[in-house]
Amino acid sequence: MPGPSHPSTSAEDYLERIHELIEEKGYARVVDIASSLNVKQASVTSMVQRLDGLGYLNYEKYRDLILTEKGKEVATQIQQRHETLTRFFSIFGLDPETQRRDIEGIEHHLSPETVHFLSELAAFFEKNPAVLDRFTKCRTPQP
Ligand code: MN
Repeated sequence: MPGPSHPSTSAEDYLERIHELIEEKGYARVVDIASSLNVKQASVTSMVQRLDGLGYLNYEKYRDLILTEKGKEVATQIQQRHETLTRFFSIFGLDPETQRRDIEGIEHHLSPETVHFLSELAAFFEKNPAVLDRFTKCRTPQP
C-alpha cells in the first residue's frame, strides 16, 4: 500500500502482526512482536513509537499496545489482502509453507489493482473448475 497516507512496507508488517497478536491473544506486547517478527525489542520499540506518531496505535512503555481506529482499518486491509493472496495461491495447490513465505515477501509490494485482479482470477477458477482442471493438466513439473 505505498503512498503518503499509508505505512511503509515494514510498518505494514508490524501492523499486520500486532493485529494478529491482539486477535489471537487479546494483547500485543513489544516482547511478543519482537519474537514473532524475529527482530530486536529495541527495533520494535522504535517502530511502535513511529506508528504511534503516525496515529496507527497508542504506545506507552510497559503497557499493551492499542490500535487506533485508523490502525485497525489499515491492519484489516493488510489482512484481507493476505487472505486474497492465500486464496489465489491455494487454488494451484502450492505448498502452504512456501505460499505463506512468498506471500509475506510480496504482499506489501502489490498495487490494489493487482490484488483485485488476482482476486478476480481466483474467483474465476473457483467458478470454473473444468478450466482449472485443464490448466492443471497442462502444467509441467518444475525443472
Ligand atoms: Mn501477511
